[in-house]
Amino acid sequence: MKVIDRLIQAEREKKTLFSFELLPPVRGKSIQSLFDAIDPLMEFNPAFVDVTYHREEYVYKELPNGLFEKSVQRHRPGTVAVCAAIMHKYNVDTVPHIICGGFSKEETENILIELNFLGIENILALRGDAAKGEAAFTPHPKGYKYASELVEHVDQLNKGEFMYAESGFKGGFCMGVAGYPEKHMDASNLDTDIKYLKQKVDLGAEYIVTQMFFDNQKYFDFVKRCREAGITVPIIPGLKPLTTKRQLTLLPNIFKLDFPQELIKEAEKCKDNKAIKQLGIEFGIQQAKELMEFGVPSMHYYSMGRSTSVKDIAEAIF
Ligand code: FAD
Repeated sequence: MKVIDRLIQAEREKKTLFSFELLPPVRGKSIQSLFDAIDPLMEFNPAFVDVTYHREEYVYKELPNGLFEKSVQRHRPGTVAVCAAIMHKYNVDTVPHIICGGFSKEETENILIELNFLGIENILALRGDAAKGEAAFTPHPKGYKYASELVEHVDQLNKGEFMYAESGFKGGFCMGVAGYPEKHMDASNLDTDIKYLKQKVDLGAEYIVTQMFFDNQKYFDFVKRCREAGITVPIIPGLKPLTTKRQLTLLPNIFKLDFPQELIKEAEKCKDNKAIKQLGIEFGIQQAKELMEFGVPSMHYYSMGRSTSVKDIAEAIF
């Protein structure tokens, strides 16, 4: 089933859905590690499960002659295969993340055709970040610079317009896109970022999943500004329970987000990561209750393969 149809149905029934996202296992690991992370969350009936995509990294190996050989490696391959495996094992809809970075238009189209074969009808369309070792995002020479271009491509496919074939499948994919309550790091300001977000929606995206945030007010303000800008699609909050003290500096650094002062104050009182994890769960429950009262479409957790805190929060709110 398409994510948008689940969201519409839930809105009609005045229900908040539960969903989460996972990383594919690292190279060489079995998919069982992923199933172990999913099992505890299945009792909450996730409406859909997202699987992230991890682009290539440049690895430099020193040769006996002292020179370095550059090779390209992917540490977490297999997004499409992992989606298919989860879908068949749990009978749940999966949402592969499809990124522009590292792909030509043709390669992207081939992935989408593959997804269609597998019966996967949802995707999250993203630009992707710069490859590790690159200062800024560089598009593939025959690929896309912005997620909006990928959205447009998928929309054309949905209309049966393929790059090389006259016709194919029609009406295939439901597309979600990313939104940033605290602004995307490259954007000059939030208004410009929302302008480009609206462009993705106008080109065919049917819902938005936000970057993680810890301050609900940032999400409420973002939704208000999106609505004022004419964006009417569901805006799903992306949430991550705090689990380590290190995240207090790491997450703002990576995702350019702010922690609320009250959470920082409580975290400072925690002696170790066990206490932080407990704080993360208690804070996460309060955050979730407030969001559900606001009427969010789904509680979407960045579980990233670690399910215990998400399970504790889900147990308290569903
Ligand atoms: P875009 O929508 O293309 O926006 C990128 C920047 O360009 C923004 O600053 C925007 O304001 C600006 N912009 C957009 N259009 C234009 C235009 N026409 N002209 C000028 N500026 C423009 N990354 C991964 O690699 N794999 C994942 O699985 C993954 N999953 C994610 C899931 C979620 C829910 C979120 C929020 C992010 C995820 N990311 C993932 C990270 C994401 O790829 C990065 O944040 C990336 O830097 C931006 O992606 P985007 O799709 O938002 O890009």
